[in-house]
Amino acid sequence: MRLIFMGPPGAGKGTQAKFVAEHFGVPAISTGDIFRANVTQGTELGIEAKRYMDAGEYVPDEVTNRMVRNRIDEPDAAGGFLLDGYPRTVAQVEELDGMIAFTGHRLDAVILLTADSDELVKRLLARAQTEGRADDTEDVIRRRQEVYLEQTAPLIDVYRDRGLLVEVDGLGEVDEVTKRIFTALAPVQES
Ligand code: ADP
Repeated sequence: MRLIFMGPPGAGKGTQAKFVAEHFGVPAISTGDIFRANVTQGTELGIEAKRYMDAGEYVPDEVTNRMVRNRIDEPDAAGGFLLDGYPRTVAQVEELDGMIAFTGHRLDAVILLTADSDELVKRLLARAQTEGRADDTEDVIRRRQEVYLEQTAPLIDVYRDRGLLVEVDGLGEVDEVTKRIFTALAPVQES
């Protein structure tokens, strides 16, 4: 399976991505997690990415694309993967298309987790208190939502036009949402 998880910040992509990836036996690749790990380790990539992340801006495409390409080339991703937080720009979609075409495979589905923006801000502010993520302050949360609407929301139509989009309501209990995702993916698995 080659899957993409999309949705606004706070929609629960990371939480659900882990369950779904485990179910299909593929790695969940989260660009946000990889950037944060690099920040913690103080690598060159982390130092560069941190400036953007702390401001709620996207890390430049060249940097992100190179990182994802390297990750997808790892042996554990040869049989498939679930991408969480990538692609987020039209340029990243094109880059990913190239990476997948090169391996002779195709994308199976793009799962869009939806949630209304008041609920999203509420969840992210709550996460700020429990996880202490540097980019979960109110101003940065708002900026991340703007950037999502400007740069990532247009990708929804791109994947819908390709017949790959699977929309799932992200509101409700975590395991309820997980069930909805598996139900929505059942036709994809059969095809
Ligand atoms: P969110 O909870 O907002 O979905 P993530 O943990 O996925 O956040 O990502 C955190 C930050 O990492 C983003 O705000 C952005 O700065 C950077 N980032 C993650 N994925 C990408 C990407 N595909 N392109 C550019 N920047 C990214």
